[in-house]
Amino acid sequence: MFPEFTLRYARLPDRFFLRFDPVPVKAPRLVAFNRALAEQLGFDLTAFDEQQAAEWFAGNTVPEGAVPLAQAYAGHQFGHFNPRLGDGRAVLLGEVTDREGHLRDIQLKGAGCTPFSRGADGRAPLGPVLREYLISEAMHLLGVPTTRALAAVTTGERVFRRVPEPGAVLTRVAASHLRVGTFQYFAAREDLEAVRTLADLAIERHYPELASREESERYLALVEAVQARQAALVAKWMGLGFIHGVMNTDNCSIAGETIDYGPCAFMEAYDPDTLFSSIDEGGRYAYRNQPWIAQWNLARFAETLLPLIDDDQERAVDGATTVIKAFEEQYEAEWLVVMREKLGLVKQEEGDRALVEAFLEALQSGRADFTLAFRRLSEAVEEDAPTLLELFETREGIEAWLPRWRERLAREEVGPEAIAERLRTVNPLYIPRNHKVEEALTAAAEDNDFTPFEALREVLADPFTEQPGREAYALPAPPTAAVFRTFC
Ligand code: AMP
Ligand code: MG
Ligand code: MG
Repeated sequence: MFPEFTLRYARLPDRFFLRFDPVPVKAPRLVAFNRALAEQLGFDLTAFDEQQAAEWFAGNTVPEGAVPLAQAYAGHQFGHFNPRLGDGRAVLLGEVTDREGHLRDIQLKGAGCTPFSRGADGRAPLGPVLREYLISEAMHLLGVPTTRALAAVTTGERVFRRVPEPGAVLTRVAASHLRVGTFQYFAAREDLEAVRTLADLAIERHYPELASREESERYLALVEAVQARQAALVAKWMGLGFIHGVMNTDNCSIAGETIDYGPCAFMEAYDPDTLFSSIDEGGRYAYRNQPWIAQWNLARFAETLLPLIDDDQERAVDGATTVIKAFEEQYEAEWLVVMREKLGLVKQEEGDRALVEAFLEALQSGRADFTLAFRRLSEAVEEDAPTLLELFETREGIEAWLPRWRERLAREEVGPEAIAERLRTVNPLYIPRNHKVEEALTAAAEDNDFTPFEALREVLADPFTEQPGREAYALPAPPTAAVFRTFC
């Protein structure tokens, strides 16, 4: 069933990882499997055997050709540098070549206590595994670059967090697991050769167009390229009201994918200060800060490459600083691309940014649901729609804004119906609502009932199309079920 492994990371020198076989679990059971993704990765599903699959995705059987390992990395956690993190509970089986010819990492998360585990248990509770499964797949279908979920298994063992929970393993697929923190690990050890190896690997896997650049330009160009992807990525998060929750440098992907779904959540009523994570006491990773944290992380990345950028360190710093400063402009441009689309604008006009900002102000003063307010714009292209207005606690802002928006829409090339249609293809109706996610996780973890999980998975598979009978999935939490805190 498994496609052939094309090992890449395992061929790096020893100091990049520790060989580590997944620790077998008691009673593996497959609870979710992503057939479409499996096919894309070249799995042969003709003789699919659920029990065999459970053994593989639990790590009880290591597929032929895999060389399981735990990757070494460091990272700034909430701004504090930890020189040695590494995969404490994740095991990379190896890389496979997908249908498009790209190498993709296959990793088991929750596969046992590796030497990087620092006293933790090496395992993952079912709740967080299902959360990552649901949200990463939803993000993919919403058009956001992300790691993906191939399978989830329960282990038949208990893990202990606040309360005992069923244990689980997630099979995660990623363009790679190279992180800013991977570079920091070697830079902190002044292992320049290793940093160069990593940079060349990043170029080979994610930015092959840089391989032909002169060595004197290549590494600063790498910073620029990673930065461009991060700017586009975070702009997409902002356009969906997505809050990552733990933007530590070890969770910042060099490939530009969203990675590590811990205490992440989607904002409901629009407020840029929104923050869910119980461990983020200072609000470092609040919604509004995300772009600037990404920039901060990129600065840490650039630092690791300074010795490769130029022999003259003063010049290297100048070059890197110029690049990192440009993030602001790049991000603002990406954000405007996202927001123009969300308002149905294709033409570019001077006043567009102000129009977007005015809409966001109306959302904030009216405490309107972010996702539904954008979605229901499609009903208000020609005249005020009660379905839109009812989302606002106070309506002065939105009532003043709508005529301004329509005046601007009148200058688009297409008519109101086409605009409304366009809006429905960019503004989702269904996102993983926090209370729906919690409901699905709780039923699975406490009652071994996967029906809510399956139902939610089905709704999220088609986020832009109205699904009759599933209205409740589109609505924000009733006050009694609102989720204010998430835990990883
Ligand atoms: P995260 O906050 O998810 O990015 O994880 C930070 C670090 O903690 C990484 O090195 C993880 O591998 C490690 N880690 C998180 N949870 C566990 C666990 N249950 N057992 C071992 N290591 C863990
Ligand atoms: Mg992490
Ligand atoms: Mg995590």
